[in-house]
Amino acid sequence: MPESNFDVSVNLTVEPTDQATSVDVLIVGLRHQDSLSPSLGELDQLGGGWLTRLLESGQLRGKRGELTMLGVPTDSGPQMLLVVGLGESELSRLDAFELSAAAIRSLLDRPRGRVEVRFADTFASEHHDVVVAGALTACEGQALYRSEPSLKLPAEIAFPGVSQKQLDRGRVIGESINHARRMVNEPPAVLYPASFAQSVLDLFADTETSVEVWDENRLAEEGCRAILAVGAGSSRPPRLVMMSHLCGGDEPPIVLVGKGVTFDSGGLSLKPSDAMIDMKCDMAGAATVVGVMNAISCLGLKRNVIGLCGLAENMVSGTSYKLGDVIKTRSGKTIEILNTDAEGRVVLADTLDVAKGLQPQAIVDLATLTGACMVALGRDVVGAMTNDSNLLEQIESAATCEGELLWELPMFRHYDDQVKSKVADIKNIGDGRWGGAITAAKFLENFVDELPWVHLDIAGPAFADQPKPYRDAGATGVMVRTLLRWIES
Ligand SMILES: [Zn+2]
Repeated sequence: MPESNFDVSVNLTVEPTDQATSVDVLIVGLRHQDSLSPSLGELDQLGGGWLTRLLESGQLRGKRGELTMLGVPTDSGPQMLLVVGLGESELSRLDAFELSAAAIRSLLDRPRGRVEVRFADTFASEHHDVVVAGALTACEGQALYRSEPSLKLPAEIAFPGVSQKQLDRGRVIGESINHARRMVNEPPAVLYPASFAQSVLDLFADTETSVEVWDENRLAEEGCRAILAVGAGSSRPPRLVMMSHLCGGDEPPIVLVGKGVTFDSGGLSLKPSDAMIDMKCDMAGAATVVGVMNAISCLGLKRNVIGLCGLAENMVSGTSYKLGDVIKTRSGKTIEILNTDAEGRVVLADTLDVAKGLQPQAIVDLATLTGACMVALGRDVVGAMTNDSNLLEQIESAATCEGELLWELPMFRHYDDQVKSKVADIKNIGDGRWGGAITAAKFLENFVDELPWVHLDIAGPAFADQPKPYRDAGATGVMVRTLLRWIES
């Protein structure tokens, strides 16, 4: 991938601060309507009871997510104290992730030296990994091409009391999320099918994960006519990327499939300009698959997992695929194109067929597939559809544990008729707009047959219009944590 103008490299350490090291900012949690923690109590005493006074006067509260930055009125110790409100309810994994991220993110407006996150006693030790991961994701933003980096990364972030193992694990999770986000945030002139594929080859170059890239010639040999059709209007030819992490002995693989439309103009069913603005993000499913594969690879999971990315650029030209075209997909099923902007499912038709050929135990696909899913569930919730409720339950429980929002939409058989075509086996849109997230999933179901399969429509949560306290706007890296947890369990 061509270089953006800065890189997220923060020194992370578990070493406690010694006498000789100065701390710029100490980050400590405070429960709502609670007394001071031992860390805060110590500082309170050194400063003659200053924190107790602030607490009593109501200047210092512990409301969840409230951040209070204070100068420390002592000669020694940290220069600044950042008190993070922890709320009243039991602290979850999501709290660990978000509150750590929000605390670090609030410090990136100016250069800082050592920042110490004293959360080891605040959050349960099994959540220490996401304390670290959250801190790292705070350091990645969407302003990749400002002349002056808008996020000033601290020289060092210390997590005293966190084990080296949890630090390393958290680093992997954070970097994997950030990698997925970076890919999504890169402009389409930088990230297109071939450069996406090259970046994956580079990422896994010295790892146990092997990468295979199918170029346009190989795609033609393999009968991936649907992927080729979507990319036909672009001067950037399509690719298929296969990442194989086979460390699980004889078990059939889990296959993760990602939609990678590196830019979606809509094709001849051209999008209006406003709807096209964010369409560099239409490869977020594929980027998520890369992120999850990176985590699996770095953590050396003893599982067989294969990641597949179907990559194409949906453009307008004399060679674009057209409305009324009928494509014979790799599976042999024919699809009638009635809207070239419903291209993701067309790319996935062939990609899922490749997945099927790998004799998997389960297939999970991720796609920024439908606006209809956002109409149904809003911007922050993943729509999940399945032909196997047991498999979805597993993924739901992983999502619940990580605090990522996911909701099931029904797959009643009565929707099947809505993707039947008059001239081909199926058509690439439903009857009208109603139930559009589901009819898209019904289309996909044709290409997985009876294999256990979950489809995750991430059109809403993959890309954010507005920043949150814990994350910049732009790409979010949604589902990396959930899928990693599911595969690990
Ligand atoms: Zn589209």
